[in-house]
Amino acid sequence: MDRIGFIGLGNMGRPMASNLVRKGFPLVAFDVKPGPLRQLADLGARAAASCAAVAGDCDLVVTMLPDSASVEEVLTAPDGVLAHLHSGGLVMDMSTIDPLLTDRVAAAAVAKGIAFVDAPVGRLASHAERGESLFMVGATPEAFARVTPLLEAMGTAIHHCGSVGSGIRTKLVNNYLAIVSCGFNAEALALSQRFGLSLEKTLEVVHGTTATNGQLKIAWAAKVLKGDTEPGFTIDLAHKDLTLIVDAAAAAGVPVPIAAAARGAFTAARDEGFGAKDFSAMVDVLCDRARITRPRLP
Ligand code: NAD
Repeated sequence: MDRIGFIGLGNMGRPMASNLVRKGFPLVAFDVKPGPLRQLADLGARAAASCAAVAGDCDLVVTMLPDSASVEEVLTAPDGVLAHLHSGGLVMDMSTIDPLLTDRVAAAAVAKGIAFVDAPVGRLASHAERGESLFMVGATPEAFARVTPLLEAMGTAIHHCGSVGSGIRTKLVNNYLAIVSCGFNAEALALSQRFGLSLEKTLEVVHGTTATNGQLKIAWAAKVLKGDTEPGFTIDLAHKDLTLIVDAAAAAGVPVPIAAAARGAFTAARDEGFGAKDFSAMVDVLCDRARITRPRLP
């Protein structure tokens, strides 16, 4: 059995790693923050002192980090994972990052005899807690078979999207829809509040037409509309993903004016101090700005 390392124990990584430990995978964990590392150790994981220590002790290293810069540092720095993992090892990056970085890191890994898998994660932090995440996987058939038992321990939907790099590209397509719909839901509900409409009746109507969407129906019902704006998925990370989407589209020559406009709305929300809130709190940003009551279900 592969010895598993897990780096990045945030809102997503901590519950995902916890599910691996609970399901019997021997795990070595690391995060720059001591709090979540202690939580993993309490469950039975071994806490490592650095990324290099994780890589030196494991055959397969999972990364679940915030952004491209942190993934590049953790994987490619002189004291990083690729420098310390043995040939024949495997790196599975589950973060949402620039696909061109995925391509570069994958090439660097393969040059050292290390297999690379990109397997970004769909669904919410609450799904990750329950081991019900969805994965979009880019991998060779051999590497896909090797990571499948781990993915089955952390989620319920595993999609092999194609070769390395296709998982992260699928994720950007998915997040375009999820995050932009979060932006227009905010505008629509602010308008509904200003009109003085019944929130319950408005939701009942739009959930019964083609206007309905998963953000409003599933995510918002459990978060902002219940008064819970703790992340979840932060406005900062949503802004980061919109930037990845706009940049990747520009590099590919695809016009995405709506994504660019949505990014402007998320930039403003960050400027107004909402960056660390759940991305469903975009509606609170607009309601506060327009001095309208925030929409809440009883
Ligand atoms: P997070 O910010 O909560 O967690 C990131 C963790 O990485 C933190 O604990 C941080 O301390 C750690 N970290 C950062 N730099 C590090 C380093 N150099 N070495 C070791 N640890 C380091 O983020 P998250 O919400 O868990 O998201 C992680 C990734 O998954 C992001 O790319 C995000 O876009 C993506 N994602 C998030 C969600 C969600 O709902 N939160 C859903 C799907 C995908």
